[in-house]
Amino acid sequence: MSTTENATPDDGAAQRILRGQDGITDWQHGLYRSFHQHPELSNQEVETAARVAKELTGLGYAVTEKIGTTGVVGVLANGDGPVVLMRADMDALPVKEDTGLDYASTVTAKDADGNEVPVAHACGHDVHVACLLGASRLLAESKDAWSGTFVALFQPAEEDATGAKEMVDDKLADTIPHPDVAFAQHVLAFTSGVVSPHAGPFLSSADSIRITVHGRGAHGSMPQLSVDPVVLASSIVMRLQTVVAREVAPGDFAVVTIGRISGGTKSNIIADRAVLELNVRTFDTAVREHVLGAITRIAVAESQASDAPEDPDIEMFDHYPLTENDEDTTARLTAAFTAHFGDAVDDQGRQSASEDFSDIPRALGVPYSYWGIGGIDPQTYAAAEKKGTVNQDIPANHSPQFAPVMEPTLSTGTAAIVVAATTWFAGS
Ligand code: ZN
Ligand code: ZN
Repeated sequence: MSTTENATPDDGAAQRILRGQDGITDWQHGLYRSFHQHPELSNQEVETAARVAKELTGLGYAVTEKIGTTGVVGVLANGDGPVVLMRADMDALPVKEDTGLDYASTVTAKDADGNEVPVAHACGHDVHVACLLGASRLLAESKDAWSGTFVALFQPAEEDATGAKEMVDDKLADTIPHPDVAFAQHVLAFTSGVVSPHAGPFLSSADSIRITVHGRGAHGSMPQLSVDPVVLASSIVMRLQTVVAREVAPGDFAVVTIGRISGGTKSNIIADRAVLELNVRTFDTAVREHVLGAITRIAVAESQASDAPEDPDIEMFDHYPLTENDEDTTARLTAAFTAHFGDAVDDQGRQSASEDFSDIPRALGVPYSYWGIGGIDPQTYAAAEKKGTVNQDIPANHSPQFAPVMEPTLSTGTAAIVVAATTWFAGS
């Protein structure tokens, strides 16, 4: 059953390793409930990281802690063969959980600005941690079924786009053996049990941009003395609507949203500056560069058209890279998933969300593939699909009601990691 030249999915190794799956279910469910009940904000994943390190150490992994802020890697060297890296993100969100689950979070914590906020695993990163620990255990307990090196990487701060980069900058490359391939997965709001590999661009790149335009302040009754930054900012807002409409080809994807605009303090004062904050999503590097260039061009030109005393300040922040799955890697992975999961493999298409995972394989110079797994109870999802009310009835990631079912979500996510890893190990 091979669909590409180098894809030789021998599912035997995965099958043998996964025979141990029933034996870890209680342990894994216990871990999951514990992570779910004790969520931690980005860069505060101290307890989660400590628990991960403790479990990995107990399984015989060589563990390094505190990479970046709270990053953890466990390395299991098991003879000759490829090095496979699997990443799970660990952070939760400032969201008040409203799932009604008996293990729902009631945690609050101080965010980076010192505000006390509710915290919940509303993006499902607790699923990723539990699945990676599960696969780490199965691989450790079946060392005679495979040969190679497994690197289990637990990343902080995915939600603010800094965690992957901070691990890279903290000498990640010197801490782990050089991987041959890197993987990650995300639980999403589709049917639990389904696995969704996707070749090529899978998650959009995201950029946030802050534009501060400079005017000349004056009395509200004397506009002739001013350069009004509110009028200038308004011109920029309107002109920016033409970037996607007139400069991006109809078949290409781009979103330009101006999520925030502020300027001035009082009705009878003309301010001396105004601030715009934008969010840009794209699936193509050339489109991204064109859109970012157009935004700068328009902001500068509108300032000059207004006779602004100086050009605008343009700051980029919260950059998420494009997640673009390697074609060959994904073809091999999809063949292996299909051999193992059969009809449960269903490409759900690219997603407009964004991720910082690819900063790791990009920095290490290795091919990668990132897949989705479903988290919604199959009957609930099928009923909503039948009624045509999926958007209204199925809470998605970041919603206070997002509540992945434990099974078959955890067993599927765990099996997906084992199948992916052994496909590369088997190819050694
Ligand atoms: Zn998220
Ligand atoms: Zn997420």
